Amino acid sequence: MSKHAWLLGAGFLVACRGGPGSAVGAPSASAVASAAPSAPLAAPSASPHLAGNRLVLLGTKGGPRVGAPGSPRNPSTLLVINDVPYLVDCGYGTSSALVGAGVPLNKVRHVFVTHHHSDHDLELGPVVYNGWVTGLKSRVDVYGPPGTAQMFTDFLAYMRLDLRVRTEDEERPELRGLVFAHDFDGPGQVMQNDDVKVTATRVVHPPISEAYAYRFETKDVSVVISGDTAYAPALADFAKGADILVHEIMSPTGIETLLRRVPNPEALRKHLLASHTQPEEVGKIAASAGVKTLVLTHFVPGDDPALTSETWTEGVRKYFAGRVVVGKDALELPLSKP
Ligand SMILES: [Zn+2]
Ligand SMILES: [Zn+2]
Repeated sequence: MSKHAWLLGAGFLVACRGGPGSAVGAPSASAVASAAPSAPLAAPSASPHLAGNRLVLLGTKGGPRVGAPGSPRNPSTLLVINDVPYLVDCGYGTSSALVGAGVPLNKVRHVFVTHHHSDHDLELGPVVYNGWVTGLKSRVDVYGPPGTAQMFTDFLAYMRLDLRVRTEDEERPELRGLVFAHDFDGPGQVMQNDDVKVTATRVVHPPISEAYAYRFETKDVSVVISGDTAYAPALADFAKGADILVHEIMSPTGIETLLRRVPNPEALRKHLLASHTQPEEVGKIAASAGVKTLVLTHFVPGDDPALTSETWTEGVRKYFAGRVVVGKDALELPLSKP
């Protein structure tokens, strides 16, 4: 595995690349050690607001369109494990949703990007920045497909005027010194600490080839988050035996309503059908994987009131007899020993 590190003032961004099938030890000890800043960064301290291991759906509306106030937010999912937040994807509205979930933004610690569609990464830089302006002093690790580290570098450039002013005028630590971004380009282990092991597998989301699902394994539970994917039987192997599978879903009838209000309906229909999973297919994946609980999220379309819980689960139920949770923003599920 080759590694690339960019010196950025007081700190570094690190990009690690592993070929398919290799262990993508993005945050491998060597990678982080090679980029360790001169002063050690303190681990975030536990907070009462972070007590309770849980899964939180911060945003459940698939796609980049910003909804009306009060309607579902763009995608983001949070795991809180032993007082530490693990954020998967950062659609628009993620910072606000974290505040709503009781997670102090300055406690942001690990951020995972599934793929580079804007409904999954638009707020990547801002969510860390918003932590920084509210007192973030500890390190943040960001993981994702190729381009993730560069995206953060570019964000720092985009915000350089404000960053310079606030760093000097408000005596804040350099943001670039706090963020460690890790790129990976193949399935395998992404990170591991005493509380959790995180692995990734490639999913099917054309035209984006670098699209991933994540699996989180704690000593008590396993949670798989599909990211965006078309029907991918291999995902069932990756999710085998998981306690919770958080899977995206698209309504083939619902998208016809959506397509009537866009300027490019044919192109969008083609993209949606090729790159997302229909209810029956979600049921097949959950059944094949043998998961205990299936949580539906990233609804396409995500804010059509005509689509009810029954609409979403009818097809799923044809194949999956386990527990199905129709996700909505701010929904929380405890992560405890079954
Ligand atoms: Zn999406
Ligand atoms: Zn996508």
